[in-house]
Amino acid sequence: MAEVAAEIATVGVVGAGTMGSGIAHVFARAGFRVLLCDVEQRLLDRAVGLIRTNLGREAAKGKLPETEIEPILARIMPTVDPESLGAAEFALEAASERFDLKTEIFRALDRILPESAVLATNTSSISITKLAAETRRPAQVIGMHFFNPVPVMELVEVVRSPATSDETFAVVQALAVRLGKTPVEVNDAPGFVSNRVLMPLINEAAYAVMEGVATPEAVDQIFKLGMAHPMGPLTLADLIGLDVCVDILRVLQEGFGNPKYCPCPLLVRMVEAGSLGRKSGRGFYTYET
Ligand code: NAD
Repeated sequence: MAEVAAEIATVGVVGAGTMGSGIAHVFARAGFRVLLCDVEQRLLDRAVGLIRTNLGREAAKGKLPETEIEPILARIMPTVDPESLGAAEFALEAASERFDLKTEIFRALDRILPESAVLATNTSSISITKLAAETRRPAQVIGMHFFNPVPVMELVEVVRSPATSDETFAVVQALAVRLGKTPVEVNDAPGFVSNRVLMPLINEAAYAVMEGVATPEAVDQIFKLGMAHPMGPLTLADLIGLDVCVDILRVLQEGFGNPKYCPCPLLVRMVEAGSLGRKSGRGFYTYET
């Protein structure tokens, strides 16, 4: 099956936000043709602009020859027409974290892509098992969970549902290696491993701030200096997006039926106020946009 992965030349990426743009970046950089789909042209233009900037940064650091930038960008085909994903041999969904939306996208991908294609999702917490059940190819549905920022982070959490075949797992494992990433296998459960462990940490850190136990700076310093984390939990929450954190906590709460995952009221209030973290210029910290 690694041979199947080696033959894949064209991939479809659905959603051109924070993650979709990073995923398109790494696939195109590894030589794949990428059909990048979103709902509005301006979102695609923004994604391509971001990829250009990030490739420029890699070139400035000497990690990529300057002359490679345009050929990489030329391999990315932005589109607002999901039907054009029919030319892809593999699809990765990285749209907003809503089950109804992902269901709709998976049904469409199942109809549009060739029967042999593997359909993957970058979801942080939604059940791969349920998404697979929406398709006629549950054995070919899998989680391929990248981390932010995608071009920098080495991990891909590869999430198997009970229906995922060994062949599908092998294809995605080999694709991750072709991208220069390290795949780690886990089974489908709410939040998988990464978010099941990380989100309660972020939530508890938010409670510590809400209750006046410490400032965000102090909480983050404790984890950087005391636990050797490269960044503190609140800096990380701003990077992920506070809205994304709240959504994942709600999925964990519902998935396990356990109130311990209920999002901290401070996080909920910040999201309601539009303080979404880095992407909105304001979260636990302020950023230049
Ligand atoms: P985002 O809000 O930045 O981007 C989502 C994009 O999906 C938007 O551009 C939106 O227009 C697009 N979209 C919505 N409906 C669509 C449709 N029908 N067809 C095509 N595109 C559509 O979100 P994000 O942070 O990039 O997250 C995307 C996915 O990746 C989510 O499932 C999230 O849980 C997961 N994820 C996020 C992170 C993170 O750190 N942000 C990390 C790992 C995984």
